[in-house]
Order: sequence, then C-alpha cells, then structure tokens
Amino acid sequence: MDFKKYVRDIENFPKQGVGFKDITPLLKDPAAFKAASEELLRFIGDEKVDVVVGMESRGFFYGPVLALALNAGFVPVRKVGKLPHHKISHTYDLEYGTDTLEIHADAINTGDRVVIHDDVLATGGTAKATCQLIEALGGVVVQCNFLLELTTLRGASKLDGYVVNSLMRY
Ligand code: IMP
Repeated sequence: MDFKKYVRDIENFPKQGVGFKDITPLLKDPAAFKAASEELLRFIGDEKVDVVVGMESRGFFYGPVLALALNAGFVPVRKVGKLPHHKISHTYDLEYGTDTLEIHADAINTGDRVVIHDDVLATGGTAKATCQLIEALGGVVVQCNFLLELTTLRGASKLDGYVVNSLMRY
C-alpha cells in the first residue's frame, strides 16, 4: 500500500516556516489504518515485548493498537505536569530551549522489554529522552517504532545503538 498517499503536508504549522506531516487521513481510512498497524507489527516480528510506550500525543494512536496485538501493556510518556502519580522526568535540549517528558515510576519493571512508538521521528530528541526514561526504570528498549521518519533531521543517528524502524521515510 502507498501509505504516503494518506499523509498530508501542512505548511507553516505549528509555526511559520515549519512543514508538518499530518497522519490523520491515514487514521481515518479503515484499510490504511489497519494495514499500517500490520506493517508496524511486522517490524516487531516475534520479539518478546512486555510494554509498548507511546509518546504524547500522537504516539497514543497506534501505541495501544500495537500493545493489544502483542499482548503487551501500554504506557504513556507525557509532557510535564500531566501524569498524576509518582513519576520520573527527563529534560532534553531543543533547538531553542528545553523540553521535559515524564513517565510513572511504576510503569516499567526491571528487565521489561519495551517497544517505543511515535508517529514521527524528527530530530530524535523525544525518542532518545523516552529511551532514557525507560532505561532509568530498568527497562530494555528492543525497538523504536515510527510511522514516519524525516531523514534529513537525522533522528536515527541520535538513536545510534537502538533498532529503529519506520514505515515511511521522507
Ligand atoms: P523530535 O523530538 O524532533 O524527533 O520530534 C518528534 C516529536 O515531534 C514527535 O512526538 C512527533 O509527534 C512530533 N513531530 C515532529 N514533527 C512532526 C510532524 O511533521 N508531524 C507530526 N508530528 C511531528
């Protein structure tokens, strides 16, 4: 299936000069939505997975879909201040400023095998921070799984040492 047909380019979003890949047409089309989940699962194959971690907020679309299919749990990684229980944080650098992601401290058990999922891999900052949160709790990241990779931003090189898979590459 030509999945790129279901990705919309939005200019100047969320701010002037930025091009945004919008995956909502993919989610809306029943055949494409399902086929994409099957391809994402094919990347994972027979890997034993205890937990799928999805990053706020577009990692919450397919993250739970993958978790159900893998018979794994789903854990959200959220922006600062959103999680209600005991949590750990990781702050990372952006082009201008910093960002902080959080995960519940009891969300990952030592030795848990974890797949992280997000819609887009751009610079890799979000994914790297997520891997660091998981590892701080004793989890093992078995794969970083994305719908779409913006290759010019070289996110995969920031994830050096991790298995990185994406369904579409731009
Ligand atoms: P990174 O941390 O630079 O790799 O950015 C990835 C994060 O930003 C992910 O959580 C994405 O959901 C979001 N993101 C960055 N660019 C896009 C885009 O073009 N479309 C949708 N989400 C994006």
